[in-house]
Amino acid sequence: MATIGFIGLGNMGGPMAENLIKAGHALQVFDLAKESVDKAVAAGATAVTGVADAVKGAEVVVTMLPAGPHVRKVLTEGGALANAAKGTLFIECSTIDVDTARAMHKAAEEAGMEMVDAPVSGGTTGAAAATLTFMVGGSDAAFERARPICEKMGKAVIHAGGPGNGQAAKICNNMILGITMIGVSEALVLAEKLGLDHQKLYDISSKSSGSCWSLNTYCPVPGPVPTSPANNDYKPGFAAAMMEKDLKLAQAAAQSVGAATPMGASALALYGLFLNSGRGEMDFSGIIKMIRGN
Ligand code: NAD
Repeated sequence: MATIGFIGLGNMGGPMAENLIKAGHALQVFDLAKESVDKAVAAGATAVTGVADAVKGAEVVVTMLPAGPHVRKVLTEGGALANAAKGTLFIECSTIDVDTARAMHKAAEEAGMEMVDAPVSGGTTGAAAATLTFMVGGSDAAFERARPICEKMGKAVIHAGGPGNGQAAKICNNMILGITMIGVSEALVLAEKLGLDHQKLYDISSKSSGSCWSLNTYCPVPGPVPTSPANNDYKPGFAAAMMEKDLKLAQAAAQSVGAATPMGASALALYGLFLNSGRGEMDFSGIIKMIRGN
């Protein structure tokens, strides 16, 4: 069993860290939010006072942070790469832009470390149940080293290719998610206006060609899927601000390579409006409220 430094214990990182503890690993954890650290300590982790201490003596370091600037801050300016022992494996699980991910791979290599970008899909329920999908970018050797660790937090660990390709897969996946959540929300609101029950539409479409994760697993109205955030007053889950961030990453990537993504652009515009209405902290499925007109 390994000593693992874990940095970023939020909605996703908290339960992921707990699953590594359950698997028997020794975790030294750090987060800016004390209550998140306390929760991990209650689950069996050791609290440390900063990034440098989290990586000292660790064979593996997992990071699960909000966005590219936080990852840069922790790995470079914050001293994670500088303070880890040579050869430490960094598993960077945050969803960030491909360019930052590739820059972090380069910085890790220069510091004598191994790294994979390993963003995840599956949401907070997947993080808690250890059923995440990991999309991994990096060398074959780094992937093989990361795989057994990721397998303790997920059900599928897929090598997407070289450095940054995990992030490329993630932003493509989340562009699908943002678009389908809006489509499912529009259909449910249309059903309301037509006098068709949410549950009936769910029963039919989840077994028909409208079936998709946004409907089947994350249904944006209360009732049909008891575990979806709609049943918990749209508490995240996956915050709308995070979805908007991912849609922005997808648009930036699309522009950089000349890909036409008009539905992705529309989804970004709609989530931008949702954030402007002051609801960025709400789960992203809460966009159904705006589509309904409230
Ligand atoms: P979160 O905001 O709940 O957690 C991020 C944590 O990082 C917070 O606890 C914060 O205090 C900590 N943090 C920020 N800067 C730090 C620093 N410098 N040092 C130490 N800790 C720091 O976010 P989340 O929902 O857990 O998401 C994390 C990442 O996973 C994001 O990139 C997100 O896009 C991605 N993601 C989220 C979901 C989801 O459903 N929430 C699903 C898949 C992927």
